[in-house]
Formats: sequence, C-alpha cells, structure tokens
Amino acid sequence: MARKKIIAGNWKMNMTPSEAVKLVETLKPLVVNDEVDVVFCVPAIDIIPVVEAAKGSNIQVGAENMYFEEKGAYTGEISPNMLVDAGAKYVVLGHSERREYFAETSESVNKKMLKAFEHGITPIMCCGESLTQREQGITMDWIRQQVKVGFLNVTAEQAKTAVIAYEPIWAIGTGKTATTEQAQEVCAGIRACIAEIYDDATAAAIRIQYGGSVNAKTAPDLFAQADIDGGLVGGASLKEEFGKIVNYK
Ligand code: PEP
Repeated sequence: MARKKIIAGNWKMNMTPSEAVKLVETLKPLVVNDEVDVVFCVPAIDIIPVVEAAKGSNIQVGAENMYFEEKGAYTGEISPNMLVDAGAKYVVLGHSERREYFAETSESVNKKMLKAFEHGITPIMCCGESLTQREQGITMDWIRQQVKVGFLNVTAEQAKTAVIAYEPIWAIGTGKTATTEQAQEVCAGIRACIAEIYDDATAAAIRIQYGGSVNAKTAPDLFAQADIDGGLVGGASLKEEFGKIVNYK
C-alpha cells in the first residue's frame, strides 16, 4: 500500500493564541488536499484554540514537545494526557533546536516516544546531522544512532505508525535546502535502518519526512522522491505559501 504523504508545519515559538486563530482561518481553505495528512504543530498554549479553529477542516494538530512522565512535580512541562485532552494527535520529538538549546538527548527522546505511543499520540521524531558531521562523512552513522536509540523498545506495530523527520541541521532556517539527492539518500538510509531493526513491512509502512528550508519551489521535487513521504516545514508554515507546499503537485 502506498504511503500517504504527511506535511506538517512546525510553528516553533511563534504565534500568540489570537494570532494562531487568525493564521488557521487564513490557511484553512489553502491546505485542503485529501491525498495528504496536514498537521499544524504549534506551541502548547495554542493547541486548544487551534483545535477549535480547525474544526471541520482537514487540519490535524500536534505539539512541539512533551514530557515523558504522567503527572507530578515537573514545573513547566506538558504531559501526554494534557496533549490528548487538548486534542493534539501528533507530537514533534527531538527537534534539533530542543537537542541544542534544551539538552534533549536520544535517550530522553526514546522515553518520550514510548509515552507518546502509550497514549495514542503519533510521534514525529527528528534526526539530522550538523554541517561538521556531514563534512566528516559520518552523516549516516550519526543518524542511524539517533534512530536506533530513539526506537529502543518501540514495537514494530508502533513503529509502522510513526513519522521520522530527517532534518539536516545546516538546512534548518538557513534558506539552504538539501539537494533532492542528499535528502533522498539519507531518507533511504533511514528506511534501511528501520528494516534492520524491524523488518521490510515496517520499513515500507513508516513515513519519513524531509525538513530544512522547504518552500513552495523545492517541495515538488523533494516530495516526489521514493523515500520522502512529505515534509516538516518551519518558516514557510507560517505563511500562505504553506498552502502551495501542501498542494505541491
Ligand atoms: C523546522 O523547524 O523543523 C524546519 C525545518 O524549519 P525551516 O523550514 O524554517 O528550515
């Protein structure tokens, strides 16, 4: 069965609740496409108003992070139950900005992955190399480790429903998109890694996105690649351009 494309916006730390509602109203008619799962990953405080504003549309809502405990003395954190109750269906885990600025590790990402599955939230697990790692020729070694640790103790049935976002750090927010060849090569490598951990059926089912300065111009070629099942889009997800990215064909 062909994999359904999934195109997700990562709003990062942008949009107050009232700005968020306005943006959803603007984008709602532009992101209609039955062939694609459309997800808006938004700041925690925007989840409830965005879910409300997106009612009756094809937009699904996700969070940008989540903690791996159920409840308790973890000031400032958001639990899986809170996300579910607020209407979030997806959660971005291990974004490079969280790894870089908030000491997120593949081990903590793994704990969050397991919790997300336990609560029926679909994780979008990010991985990707720095420019130095690419220049050192260790891109695939690094990403295989991120994937292997991130998926520790995740069952094949769970992995089949997961989303992996390949995001080269040097391409995020820089306007420097990876070439389609570079993106396809790594996404194919990630799929091969999933086949090694699990089996061919799991590798064939899991969805792998590319992320890093995706725009309306680069999306068609990127999303046409055999192992690229859509994108995780930062900057362009806050603009009307996101409608063009969702309707990339
Ligand atoms: C991201 O935030 O995951 C991202 C890829 O950002 P941008 O599209 O702005 O590079």
